[in-house]
Amino acid sequence: MKFGGTSMAGIERIRHVAALVKREADRGNQVAVVVSAMAGETDRLVQMCREAAPLYDPREYDVVVASGEQVTSGLLAITLTGMGLNARSYMGWQLPIRASGHSSALIDHIEASILEGVFEKGGIAVIPGFQGVTPEGDLATLGRGGSDTSAVALAVAVEADRCDIYTDVEGVFTTDPRIVPRARKLEAITYEEMLELASVGAKVLQTRSVGLAMRYNMPLQVLSSFEDQPGTLIVGDEKIEELHMERQLVTGIAHDKNEARITLTGLPDKPGTVAAIFAPLAEANVNVDMIVQSGRAGETSDLTFTVPTAALAHSVAALEKAKAAIGFAAIVTDTNVVKISAVGIGMRSNAGIAAKMFETLAERGINILAISTSEIKVSVLVPEDYTELAVRVLHTAFGLDAKEAA
Ligand code: ASP
Ligand code: MG
Repeated sequence: MKFGGTSMAGIERIRHVAALVKREADRGNQVAVVVSAMAGETDRLVQMCREAAPLYDPREYDVVVASGEQVTSGLLAITLTGMGLNARSYMGWQLPIRASGHSSALIDHIEASILEGVFEKGGIAVIPGFQGVTPEGDLATLGRGGSDTSAVALAVAVEADRCDIYTDVEGVFTTDPRIVPRARKLEAITYEEMLELASVGAKVLQTRSVGLAMRYNMPLQVLSSFEDQPGTLIVGDEKIEELHMERQLVTGIAHDKNEARITLTGLPDKPGTVAAIFAPLAEANVNVDMIVQSGRAGETSDLTFTVPTAALAHSVAALEKAKAAIGFAAIVTDTNVVKISAVGIGMRSNAGIAAKMFETLAERGINILAISTSEIKVSVLVPEDYTELAVRVLHTAFGLDAKEAA
């Protein structure tokens, strides 16, 4: 069981978490609990590091920011013990959770023997998320949101049946319920779909944790600690078949406003032009996403692509610097765009998803500025003003609407 920051924010909530842990233990399950710091605490600690010195030492940053989880794991163990349960906290260095690097360390190995011993004696282990220990014996933290990854890695190490991630949302939804009141909570979704949805803006779990779960085929469940209801299972393809879950062509519609469009006009039609554009962007560490080129052979052409909004200024500067080498006429930029994506493994065996998406948007007069696709995703770039409308009509067109608004 893993509990996020809002679930751990204060003694009252920790008591509620303890009740959920007790219930699981009473059912006869062996339980390890991974906790986050109280909501807002890690931000506060990071801020203090910055104030102390803008160029802080990452080793010392880890010492500071790992403390939030140390507090909550101790408090939960105290609370469980007070309820008569045999619970103890185990810091990352005690298990140990071996990791390398600082401030966004990678987990190398988790020693399961202590935990197995705890389980054998009917005990409950409480483990601070987000932290590990380096080969030098230093504290290491796993990057923001890293407690999800701690939980999945621990579940894999003890060969758990499942990793339940308790958070402040009820599960994974077909789309953002704030935009579409008829969004539905999904019973189940595959790892791949979850990764695609995360990459296009629907963030519930740290992406790394989903990749890790997929690698080891560890079933995840995302559920709310505030509501007593099953959440969303995140599992492999075969498991969804096994569970006879309903299959839809499209599983979810995501949107991402964090994209900006760049168009270069009047490009020479010759080998090397595109390379001359993207090499300086790669050098500036800019992640280019959608790319569209248009023009006729022998004439000049235009190239449109998207970059993260935060990287727009850097990108334009890098392109201006390379203007002579590229040979474009003008740079046009636009931040009032949104990327809308339809994601679903059903697309693999079904042609026509992209066509249906384009038709649905055309019927509403929504202009498509760029397109990109993967095996299980179709993304379109449209003017930002159309975000709500586009998400809503696609949600309906792909049969995702709930019968009643939530
Ligand atoms: N407390 C850490 C953070 O806020 C890790 C986590 O909660 O996942 O990033
Ligand atoms: Mg989190």
